[in-house]
Amino acid sequence: MSKLVEIEVLEKDDKNMRLLIRGVDVPYMNALRRTVIAEVPCMAIDEIVVIENSSTFQDEVIAHRLGLIPLKTDLEGYNLPEECPCKSEFGCNLCRVTLALDVESKEKTRTVYSGELESENPSIIPVSDTIPIIKLAKEQKLKLEAYARLGKGKNHAKWQPVSMCTHKYFPKIEISCKKCDGCGKCVEICPRKVLAKTGNRIEIRDLMACTLCQDCVETCPQNPPAVKITWEENAFIFALESTCVLSPEKIMTEAIKILDGQLKDLERQIKVKKSEKD
Ligand SMILES: [Zn+2]
Repeated sequence: MSKLVEIEVLEKDDKNMRLLIRGVDVPYMNALRRTVIAEVPCMAIDEIVVIENSSTFQDEVIAHRLGLIPLKTDLEGYNLPEECPCKSEFGCNLCRVTLALDVESKEKTRTVYSGELESENPSIIPVSDTIPIIKLAKEQKLKLEAYARLGKGKNHAKWQPVSMCTHKYFPKIEISCKKCDGCGKCVEICPRKVLAKTGNRIEIRDLMACTLCQDCVETCPQNPPAVKITWEENAFIFALESTCVLSPEKIMTEAIKILDGQLKDLERQIKVKKSEKD
């Protein structure tokens, strides 16, 4: 029996998205979370060729710093290097973007920022112009070429399109009016200010903020406690924060597409194995 999945968008902007998803279970939510973190590709600098470096930093340190700069990604315009028809280690126009950096400090110490990287494709650029790369003292120079490629978070964290992706149970709070004497201890102890006291009554102020920590239950002087914290079966709050390389919607739709493809592949392999046996 298949149940319908219900999705409600709780919050959404260019960076964050929070969804209320009903009708799924923990393994599915976890698979989706892991797909977002490890499987959705994005662009990152993967290799550099240093032409001149008279700074105090080693080439490797600069390469590492450049790799961690999030780059705006175009998933439709580029291939993953392993899937590109060029089959070349160096890459081609369909699987590689070149960015150049040519900076010099003429008079006094200065900081080089991500905005100074010049990309051959104006749509593949750092998400922010103000990420510091290196400090150069007077007369120091740095000239290099950097190659960005699509990659996946499971190979290196620089290819992770999100800085955060989580899911939690949808909380359920029950306050028994009969047992509660309105002492307010549960309101005071809650670190997320989920409950509020109005007169002698305890009310739920912000249900979504509840982390199911049970502090309010433990502090209640009544026996058994007047407040009960549980969670809804098969309802989850799913949250993600993009590093701005892709929009939150794009990350979610890609993750669903990838997960769906992996399940179809599994199904196909089972069928092949079965027919081999027959
Ligand atoms: Zn290629």
